[in-house]
Amino acid sequence: MKFSRREFMKTAGFAGTFFLSGCGRAGGPSPAGVPNWSPAYAKLEAEGKLDERIEQAFARLEKCDICPRECGVNRRRGEKGFCNLDDRLKVHSHSPHFGEELPLVGRRGSGTIFFSYCNLRCVFCQNYPIAHEGRGRYVEDSDLARMMLDLQNRGCHNINVVTPTHILPHIISAISIACKQGLKLPICYNTGGYDSLDNIKLLDGIVDIYLPDLKFMDGEKAEKYAVQGVRDYPRRAQAAIKEMHRQAGDLETDSRDIAYKGVMLRHLVMPNRVAGTREFVRWVADNLSTKTYVNIMSQYRVEHRAFEYEQISRAITSEEFVEAIDWAREAGLENLDRRSMQQYHIHRRRAGG
Ligand code: SF4
Repeated sequence: MKFSRREFMKTAGFAGTFFLSGCGRAGGPSPAGVPNWSPAYAKLEAEGKLDERIEQAFARLEKCDICPRECGVNRRRGEKGFCNLDDRLKVHSHSPHFGEELPLVGRRGSGTIFFSYCNLRCVFCQNYPIAHEGRGRYVEDSDLARMMLDLQNRGCHNINVVTPTHILPHIISAISIACKQGLKLPICYNTGGYDSLDNIKLLDGIVDIYLPDLKFMDGEKAEKYAVQGVRDYPRRAQAAIKEMHRQAGDLETDSRDIAYKGVMLRHLVMPNRVAGTREFVRWVADNLSTKTYVNIMSQYRVEHRAFEYEQISRAITSEEFVEAIDWAREAGLENLDRRSMQQYHIHRRRAGG
């Protein structure tokens, strides 16, 4: 039987005592060796403050400024902005995922939920059918909550919401529902980085792990290859990431090396230095911390429409990846992703270094 969000909230209110006793406590693996840990949202829910955030988030759909595009459409009346979604929630899939960073994957996988549509339009998108075409199915917030609990029951170490920005209100609502039924995993906010500062402030005390991309350091290149129509990606993403770091800090892992709190930053090395990797690593060192967990990724592929753009119509060379990691080390970054360092040594041998 399906419930709408409001119907479910009414039911949850009726049975509040039972649900609160389960919030953040029952089921699923906890961080090992971290006594008395509970996910960020559990405290807000117990204090009755999560509902307020849900209302605030849904209100922003009425003149949508959920992301920096600030389309101003009324999604609650069925209007659609750049991301092509009204006020419904569309999910492509949910499953344990073993391709994410090792502190997220652990032994039982990261509990990923892929959402349909996106507020970016990367010409090199590797998830084009989901992010651009919006493949998936419409579901209720209570269905999303059930997916979260299913991933917890399957032993995943976190709930990894992929491309969450444009459906933020639904995610907070689903967390609240799932929390009342015993969700206790950390929430990992896995974003392309084009988030408004207000959005991230709304997530203070809800999200445990932030996993943002910082894709470009130059507004013109960001506009051309990813954002389409605006040049403010670097400024917006940097402001959002600084706020994420203020909230969650550097990455913290348990005795099994599994993440439960903090920022994990991603940056994809692109051909011909178009991503601005040298500027990126310096920015991290100067604005966050040299202890920031940084994944400098080597897996750029010519996907979607990338072949139409001369500068990015090839894979990166070994030399390009080696120089990227060398820049990171020169900048003093000391917590580089383990798999990217393995790639570094392979590429160094290939490059004859
Ligand atoms: S979330 Fe969608 S509709 Fe809202 S401002 Fe962003 S792109 Fe526009």
